[in-house]
Amino acid sequence: MKLYDGIISDTMEVLESYRDLDGVKKYPYAGSSWKDNESSEFIMQRDVALELGAGGEPSVNYTLVSTSGIVTEDEVLVYGPDINEIKGNTAFARIVILDTKDLKEDQDTEIAFAAIRNLEFVRYHVFPKGYMVRVSARSNQEQIRISQGAFSNGINFAKVGALYIKKYKEVPEVKKVRVIFITEKELVEKLMPNADKADTITKTLTHILDGMPTDCGHCSMKPVCDEVEGMKELHLGKKKQ
Ligand code: SF4
Repeated sequence: MKLYDGIISDTMEVLESYRDLDGVKKYPYAGSSWKDNESSEFIMQRDVALELGAGGEPSVNYTLVSTSGIVTEDEVLVYGPDINEIKGNTAFARIVILDTKDLKEDQDTEIAFAAIRNLEFVRYHVFPKGYMVRVSARSNQEQIRISQGAFSNGINFAKVGALYIKKYKEVPEVKKVRVIFITEKELVEKLMPNADKADTITKTLTHILDGMPTDCGHCSMKPVCDEVEGMKELHLGKKKQ
């Protein structure tokens, strides 16, 4: 599936420009991760050490899937200060790029549909201890509260990212995972429009897998299909199977 490849290229291009300026921290996944709380946790204001993407700072979250072999390693990339280096309110983005087996190759649509749903489920169901995630699925914002306990125990993006990788790799279709954390305001703002584009593709894909009719002339998804390479082929090809 190459539907998100354009957004992946755009994202990495924006990030490459920053790499030239200040570098990026790269952490290969070694299996160990930050402790999993296993369910959502409420961190009260008085226990907060740090907030990311809150207090009027921009924040964004999106997930991209590809079968083009763009992601060759399980890794966490950090652009901007890490958790222990942040002072005060800061912008925040978390972007996940997944290399999966080709969902289109599954003859059974139900399997492809379940895989997409599982990926969406993981997106909102990772609960690092002392790291409260507040999401707005409608606006693609993601705000983080870090507890004083987690902060003093040395929480960092490498360990939190490793927990995301671990959870994504529990989905059988996932081969490689790249988790990107960004705390540079300029980068977060540049990448924000990509979240809406990714959402539109995911929604269209979900509709297609859900069995919507193949009548392009009367289809509200036509602008997406005209723009995103491979979307039309996916739907019309699927009908022929
Ligand atoms: S291929 Fe045609 S019918 Fe299918 S989603 Fe795209 S525009 Fe709609």
